[in-house]
Amino acid sequence: SQVYLNGAFMAPQDARISPMDRGFLFADGIYEVIPAYNGVLFRFDEHLDRLERSLREVQIINPHSRAQWQALCEDLIARNNGGNISVYLQISRGMAEKRDHAFPDPPVVPTVFMMTSPIAVPAADSPDTARGYGAITRDDIRWARCDIKSVSLLPNSLLRQQAVAAGAAEAILLRDGFVTEGSASNVFIVQSGTIITPPRSHAILGGITRDLVVELCHQHGLPLEERELTETELRQADEIWITSSTKEVVPITTLNGHPVGQGQPGPVWKALAHHYVRHKRRLCGL
Ligand code: PMP
Repeated sequence: SQVYLNGAFMAPQDARISPMDRGFLFADGIYEVIPAYNGVLFRFDEHLDRLERSLREVQIINPHSRAQWQALCEDLIARNNGGNISVYLQISRGMAEKRDHAFPDPPVVPTVFMMTSPIAVPAADSPDTARGYGAITRDDIRWARCDIKSVSLLPNSLLRQQAVAAGAAEAILLRDGFVTEGSASNVFIVQSGTIITPPRSHAILGGITRDLVVELCHQHGLPLEERELTETELRQADEIWITSSTKEVVPITTLNGHPVGQGQPGPVWKALAHHYVRHKRRLCGL
């Protein structure tokens, strides 16, 4: 396999970054994960909109035009034999001369790293036979700008590890009695046929998959509300779903060890999963 680092493609073991890189010292960087199916980038413009926004919010200069980013992604996908893979793309503020919390002045060249990973077959690909996954709830211990896709993922990592230790797939996070999102996903519930997801805000990452699910619900007349979601509503939900670019829309069938609804992927999830798969296949020529 091949990765990209600062202008060159190479084998992963040949990629070298200085420990003086601010990505290493301060987790001072942002990232994106863009899925490709059949080698075709999925919702590329939406991912690039978010990448550009993350860079603006942390004042890192965007080193490439959108056309250059697209060419780099497509080149990397081709070098890794296409298929169903995700592109991970990270930009740090670059290598400083000394360790100082304040930015280097004048700015240094940002570090750009890209790699690909295979995408496992998502649950939504087989809506009628998919199994569900477990989730736990935890306090949201993260900072107040979770809308920025920052590489500072220590809280997310600690929370996901707690889920894994409990035999669950995800930790669903609560702030002041309200659901924010998962440690690496957005959250939806179904309550008496209505789909509910928390609104975009600084408390959550504006998920590309979340937005697509919202779009598909509108297109297909599935009732959806974007509003604050309480812990009690989560616990009493008929269905819980989590969404992310590489896992798509995943049914959660146990919460803290208790069954969600009937303890099986629900009928609203199945309907949405069928729409999701059709949409993906049409766009990517699968
Ligand atoms: N929230 C968090 C905290 C995430 O890390 C992710 C995925 N990286 C998501 C939500 C889902 O976003 P997307 O659908 O754009 O992958």
